[in-house]
Amino acid sequence: MKTKNLGFDSKLIHSGMIDDKYGSATVPIYQTSTFKCKDLQQGADMFAGNCDGYFYSRMGNPTICSLEELVADLENGYNAIALSSGMGAVNTIYIGLLKNGDHLISTDAVYGPSRLVMEKYYAGFGIQADYVNTTNYENIINAIKPNTKAIYIETPSNPTIDITDLKKVVEIAKQNNLITIVDNTFCSPYLQKPIDFGVDVVFHSVSKFINGHADIIGGVIVTREKELYKTLRETMVNLGCNMDPHQAYLVIRGLKTLSLRMERAQKNALAVAEFLEQHPKVKWVKFPGLKSYNQKELAKKQMKGSGAIMVFELKDGFNAAKVLMNNVKLSMLAVSVGGVETLIQHPASMTHSKLSKETREKAGITDGMVRLSVGIESKEDIISDLNNALSKI
Ligand SMILES: *Cc1c(COP(=O)(O)O)cnc(C)c1O
Repeated sequence: MKTKNLGFDSKLIHSGMIDDKYGSATVPIYQTSTFKCKDLQQGADMFAGNCDGYFYSRMGNPTICSLEELVADLENGYNAIALSSGMGAVNTIYIGLLKNGDHLISTDAVYGPSRLVMEKYYAGFGIQADYVNTTNYENIINAIKPNTKAIYIETPSNPTIDITDLKKVVEIAKQNNLITIVDNTFCSPYLQKPIDFGVDVVFHSVSKFINGHADIIGGVIVTREKELYKTLRETMVNLGCNMDPHQAYLVIRGLKTLSLRMERAQKNALAVAEFLEQHPKVKWVKFPGLKSYNQKELAKKQMKGSGAIMVFELKDGFNAAKVLMNNVKLSMLAVSVGGVETLIQHPASMTHSKLSKETREKAGITDGMVRLSVGIESKEDIISDLNNALSKI
């Protein structure tokens, strides 16, 4: 069935479906490492790249391919590459697109390990990166060097929930012949489709909203055009950070309810954000759904909703955050976001603790800041849990 012109919710159910000889209603798990060739000619054609079939699961597998078609359809991209993890996607992109002497411009409040690997490993291979506040596009323009190859954006940023203007970034990139890369994990394609704005490479940690059930680790890259797809697929295959068929099956299953989960989670998130904003122990709340959010216009332009992730600052800083973290019961004190369960964490002592205090502060990650990823539970229970834990401060 042609699915390109279906609505987003129909794509979630029908894109990438396999038409097998049994008429399976869902995508079967092809738990096989290798595939039999009909004859030596087919074997030779496969190695020569003149044949479409499957021959080894690191390179391709029907279950994984089904997920790739599905995500490519959701992001309006050319095609997708599924990977063992979100970090597998980050490293495939770095290695596939950058070489010795190249320069990358990236968002300063980027996912911690994405910056960590760049500084720990890629600097040693002669690749330079500058981390700037990309919400001000002048910073991007000022960071461009003759050897700049790509602009890497995370919007909304993690954990600061600042939005970068995708249209503007693509404009700057086109003028300077640069590749644009967007980590779309915090939005999922339900909320934001960067390829519609002209972005070249979009990727996700599918461990978050895309799978949504906190039961697997995975990643996916989607490209706007064929050339980058071929480059990045070859890189993934050579690195060996492919997804596993069983993992792909679970992601396909999780994705079917993406719209339903997102709608509920963002409704809950708005109620929680409004509760926190009026709480006397809370200094401020940053959430795109709130009236007080400083980039509301831009959020409306490029996101379909406000998502389910927020940060808030406690008046009494680090110690207050510690009391809150140690007293929540329903909300789980855990890293990750985008699951059906509410997750809470303290960036300064958890996800962003490896950055120096100076780097953290420059990126707006303060000691009293708490990140909350709101799940699909009854909103009254989430609010009452937070209210109870806040009362202990
Ligand atoms: C989790 C995450 C990653 C890394 O993904 P893994 O699946 O954990 O390897 C990258 N970017 C963002 C924004 C994330 O939240």
